[in-house]
Amino acid sequence: MESDDCSVKVAVHIRPLIGDERLQGCKDCVTVVSGKPQVQIGSHSFTFDHVYGSTGSPSTEMYQECAAPLVDGLFQGYNATVLAYGQTGSGKTYTMGTGCGDNSTQTGIVPQVMNALFTKIETLKDHIEFQIHVSFIEIHKEEVQDLLDPSTINKSDTKVAHVPGKPPIQIRESSNGVITLAGSTEVSVSTLKEMAACLDQGSVSRATGSTNMNNQSSRSHAIFTISVEQMRKVNNNTDSSENGSLKEEYLCAKLHLVDLAGSERAKRTGSDGMRFKEGVHINKGLLALGNVISALGDEKKRKDGAHVPYRDSKLTRLLQDSLGGNSRTVMIACISPADINAEETLNTLKYANRAR
Ligand code: ADP
Ligand code: MG
Repeated sequence: MESDDCSVKVAVHIRPLIGDERLQGCKDCVTVVSGKPQVQIGSHSFTFDHVYGSTGSPSTEMYQECAAPLVDGLFQGYNATVLAYGQTGSGKTYTMGTGCGDNSTQTGIVPQVMNALFTKIETLKDHIEFQIHVSFIEIHKEEVQDLLDPSTINKSDTKVAHVPGKPPIQIRESSNGVITLAGSTEVSVSTLKEMAACLDQGSVSRATGSTNMNNQSSRSHAIFTISVEQMRKVNNNTDSSENGSLKEEYLCAKLHLVDLAGSERAKRTGSDGMRFKEGVHINKGLLALGNVISALGDEKKRKDGAHVPYRDSKLTRLLQDSLGGNSRTVMIACISPADINAEETLNTLKYANRAR
C-alpha cells in the first residue's frame, strides 16, 4: 500500500431525523449537494472526502470506502484509526455499531470490520499464522479504564476506575515508537464469535457504567483495538539456487476503532463543578485530537517536521503510532439534520473541515 499524500480522510454521516425530533416538529436543515461530497447548512458549505446521507443504506458504502482499505492495510503492517466524532445523539455509536441491541450492531463499522478481517484470515491461514488480540478501553477524565477487565465484568451495579490493588493503566512508548497500554486486558481471539463477544462485553460494561455515573459514556472516548500479528514463511528469492531458502516474515499492525466523547460544549453538560471538570477534560482530548489531525493534514508543516502535539492528551498519546506517519486515519463526523442542533452541527462540520 502506498502511503497517501493526505493520511487523514474525512467523511460526514448524516442520520435521519429521529422520533424525538419529529415529535418536536424539527425541520431538516442540512442539505447534501447532489453528486458531490458537499454539505450545506445555512450559508455555510463544506466539502469532504465522502458524505453519507440520511436516505438509502449508506452502511455498506461507508464501510467499503472508509474502513475496508484500513483492514487491507492491517495485513500489510499498517496501523490505522477510525474515529467517530460528533455531539451526543448524532449517531457516533450507531455509525461504529458498538451500541447494545439496535440494528447497527450488524451494519456498523466495527461489525463489518470484524467480518472482513476473519473472512480474509480464512483465505490466508494455510500460509500464514495469525495471532489476533483485542482490547477495549475508555478514557474518562484523562484516566484509562479497562472495559474488558475480568474482575469488574458482571458486577453491573458498580464500575470502578481501579480495582483495589491494581495499578492504573499506563500509556507507554517503546524506543521504536510503539505505543502500548500497560495493565489493560488483551484478549487473544481466534474466531469472529470470540471477538464479537469481547465487543459486546465491553459495550455492556460501558453502557452499565453510564447509567450509574451520569451518562459517563457521552463524556468518554471508547477505543476498541484489534491487533493482528502474522508469521509467514517466504521464499528468499535473492537466492536463485534450486533449494531456495525460506525466511520468516513477521508483521504486526493494529486498528483503533474510536467512539469519541460528545463534542458538545461543556456549558451544555451542566453547571455543577464536577461535571464541568469532566467537560474540560473531554475537551482536552478532542482539542488535542483536532490539533494533531490538523497538523498532520498540513502538508507544509509536515515537510518542515513541525511539532505534532500528541502529548497534550491521553487520547492523542494512545493513538500516536496510529495517526500520521504510515498509518491511515478516517474521521467520520456524525451529524443530526435537525434545526435545533444546527449550532452543534456547524461546530462539528468546522472541526471536521479543519482535519482536511
Ligand atoms: P451518539 O453515540 O452520537 O450519542 P447514537 O449512535 O446513540 O448517538 O444515536 C442516537 C440515536 O439516533 C439512537 O437512537 C440511534 O439509534 C439513532 N440513530 C443514529 N444514527 C442513525 C441512523 N443512521 N439511522 C437511524 N437511526 C440512527
Ligand atoms: Mg454514543
